[in-house]
Amino acid sequence: MTDSSNNKPVRTRFAPSPTGYVHIGNARTELFNFLFTRHYKGVHVLRVEDTDQSRLVEGAVENMLKVLKTLGIEFDEGAILNDAGHIEERGEFGPYTQSARLDIYKDYIQKLLNNKSAYYCFCTQERLDELRKEQIALKQPAMYDRHCRNLSAEEVASKQDEFKAAGKSPVVRFAIPLEGETVVTDLVFGEMKYQNAVLDDQVLIKSDGFPTYHFAVVVDDHLMEISHVIRGEEWIPSTPKHVLIYKAFGWEAPQFAHMPLILNPDKSKLSKRQGDVAVEDFLKKGYLPEALINFMAFLGWNPKTEQEIFSEQELIEHFDLEKVNKSGAVLDTVKLDWMNSEYIKAKSNAELVELAKPYWQAAGVDTEKFSSAYLEAIVELEKARLKKLADLPELTKYFFNTTGLQIDPEILVWKKSNAKDTHQNLLLLQDLFRITDDDVMNSPEKLEVIVKGFIAEHELDNGSVLWPLRYALTGEEKSPGPFEVTATIFLGLGREEVMNRLQQAISVL
Ligand code: GLU
Repeated sequence: MTDSSNNKPVRTRFAPSPTGYVHIGNARTELFNFLFTRHYKGVHVLRVEDTDQSRLVEGAVENMLKVLKTLGIEFDEGAILNDAGHIEERGEFGPYTQSARLDIYKDYIQKLLNNKSAYYCFCTQERLDELRKEQIALKQPAMYDRHCRNLSAEEVASKQDEFKAAGKSPVVRFAIPLEGETVVTDLVFGEMKYQNAVLDDQVLIKSDGFPTYHFAVVVDDHLMEISHVIRGEEWIPSTPKHVLIYKAFGWEAPQFAHMPLILNPDKSKLSKRQGDVAVEDFLKKGYLPEALINFMAFLGWNPKTEQEIFSEQELIEHFDLEKVNKSGAVLDTVKLDWMNSEYIKAKSNAELVELAKPYWQAAGVDTEKFSSAYLEAIVELEKARLKKLADLPELTKYFFNTTGLQIDPEILVWKKSNAKDTHQNLLLLQDLFRITDDDVMNSPEKLEVIVKGFIAEHELDNGSVLWPLRYALTGEEKSPGPFEVTATIFLGLGREEVMNRLQQAISVL
């Protein structure tokens, strides 16, 4: 399918540099790329941009693709993850890893050298550093002064020999047109004009023979027939250079769409601290993939309706670049918590138990020792308030503790009661629970009727009975209500455990 603004079939790409974890900003941009592609039934390509060999991290591509796959983002072509979890090339435009395409870049740089759109630069690092210092001192923009741009053919040949003898290679720079302006048309940011005179003669091939990002991205996007370049706002300043490189080749540039920055709530630039921004860490904390997708979709996009909860399929249906905002999107984790809790509430108890098991196990709970019915009853009690799965072990720890809770006598006594009455009330509750039928003990509603009847009969007040009951069973000042807690512990751990917990509380008074 083609999109309305361009008659080419939609082909997009995610072009990560394999330098480590998946930053939420990159994941959001990639999500928009993916939603756009699926919306137009296009082809989504994965290209590995590993031209900066000093920044490579072993296994980074696999890791990134696994995280994206968990979120439901997959690729049709390129260096993609196979079922065994390894990278495999698929498609006719390969190789899709830039370090395996060096011969291609060699051919293409020759074309630019031949048509004088590129030139060799022999300047030493010392000269460039010196130049930079001078420009900064004069408050001029730091850029290359085009020193090597007008060398004669003889000068170039003799410098080449000199470099060869020393075992070095010159870099190749782009010859930016000296006059005129370059217009970038962006599907989100609109038209942006740049005076060519302020654009730097960018290095295209480095002295190690590798292309720079700027050169490789243009050559590859063209050869891979990419129709839409969808990437982060931070690449806007590079785009006029890319447009000029397309022109120098005589190629038509793809459509560009830059996605707005993601900001902290105080509008500062989002931190790079991995624990705060890595998608894998959000997943580890127990944010559900579908909630993260939904949340990220709203970082810079708005369906312009009231609806906030969207499945991936609905996002694909509704997503369009026209509804992407220019202004930075705030990463609001309060909203993420809310969204995640909505997705948690929508899960069945059985599904939630499966999702919760790794978290309980990591906290030392042997989940195999407890019945599914018990685990499901526990999540049922917490799911209405739960923000993320990682919070569950702490909230539910008393359900698994059969070796005695910490009971503080100060807390055990209801604020309008006293130790003596509390002692007495707990003894009475023990008597009551000793003779209450199983089907009542199992049901919070029936228990409530019985216990409230018992309170009335003994002319007690609710607080002086229900507070110590709930606290004796949980050891927590905050928990679900006394009837739910009693019925659930009875279901999973039996009458004896209910009696033991009451006994233990009695013994501290
Ligand atoms: N390799 C670049 C990055 O790391 C890709 C930028 C682009 O999409 O053009 O983000």
